[in-house]
Amino acid sequence: MRTTVAVVNGPGAEFVLEAVEVDGPRADEVLVRIVATGLCHTDLSLRDTLPAEMFPRVFGHEGAGVVEEVGADVTGIAVGDHVVLSLASCRGCAKCQAGQAGYCEQTLMLNYMGFRTDGSTSYSREGGPVYGHFFGQSSFARHAVALASSVVVVDPSLDLTRIAPYGCGFMAGSGAVLNVAQPGPGDSVAVYGVGAVGLAAVAAARASGVGTVVAVDLQARRLEAAERLGAIGVDPAGLGETTVVERVKELTGGGATYGIETTAVPSVLKEAAQSLGVQGTLVVLGLDMSRPEFPVDAIDLLQNGKVVRGSVEGDSDPQEMVPRMLRMNAEGRLPLDDLVTTYPFGEINSAIADVLAGRVVKPVLVW
Ligand SMILES: [Zn+2]
Ligand SMILES: [Zn+2]
Repeated sequence: MRTTVAVVNGPGAEFVLEAVEVDGPRADEVLVRIVATGLCHTDLSLRDTLPAEMFPRVFGHEGAGVVEEVGADVTGIAVGDHVVLSLASCRGCAKCQAGQAGYCEQTLMLNYMGFRTDGSTSYSREGGPVYGHFFGQSSFARHAVALASSVVVVDPSLDLTRIAPYGCGFMAGSGAVLNVAQPGPGDSVAVYGVGAVGLAAVAAARASGVGTVVAVDLQARRLEAAERLGAIGVDPAGLGETTVVERVKELTGGGATYGIETTAVPSVLKEAAQSLGVQGTLVVLGLDMSRPEFPVDAIDLLQNGKVVRGSVEGDSDPQEMVPRMLRMNAEGRLPLDDLVTTYPFGEINSAIADVLAGRVVKPVLVW
């Protein structure tokens, strides 16, 4: 059938709405009519860094919509179900079986390559492939063929435009706190960069009963959002003679028990590690493909028994984590709804400009 996608025709190019062909679902896939898709930084960083031969390509990995067709081997998903789409996994390897879908043996193939394991693509135009299958979905589209492992069935009464980001951004930030750090009331959490991921981490830390949550960011609007969620905002530019490390240590009584790093700026990552208390743990979520190395103060790390570790999607299994987050949200313990700003799909390039300029936290594109 024909559908409309926001396609990128080459590295760094703008998103363009275009009609393409989309296949029906294979045995392990479902066809989803997309209602809304969140825009996440990974859509942009890969658009800008993937090689030219991996284009034209459809990004989008925070889709939400309604199931229109179900593949022969798919269980637990029916036509008409409302769904949130998240990362894809094989569901069979040891990591998947252990609930660690982000570390699935087939992560690269199922989420990033742009085609199915047999080399085919669900989208095509003029007989040629349009690469897709991004996070098992490529949901910058009116219709997406999603791998069943990407699909999480949700309560149909929920507003799909509000919950689309639960598939990636909100899950990564919440998971870093709820699954990785698992802080308690006696701990402190410092979050570096409070975009959508960082704000979800702030909300999850408060939901965990953490008394002292510190949010570090250069943008006033983001700091205000973090403060509304219960964090103490720190603007590095407004500290005068005091360093960020000194300020975070002061606010947390000697150093944070946990740090959550979302900026991917090497110097910030170093400060985040230095701001930890003795035996503190820094969870690294941000990644900038163009500068993936960062400096570490090895003396500080060793003498204080600090841990710096990475995390894919906050160590979440979407099948477990999305429903858990939605329950917390319904109970008022994960108040993320106000972070969403909706845009018509045709305004995707304005949405990108707005989020990069810090005018909005989480753009969600709506058909
Ligand atoms: Zn697996
Ligand atoms: Zn993402």
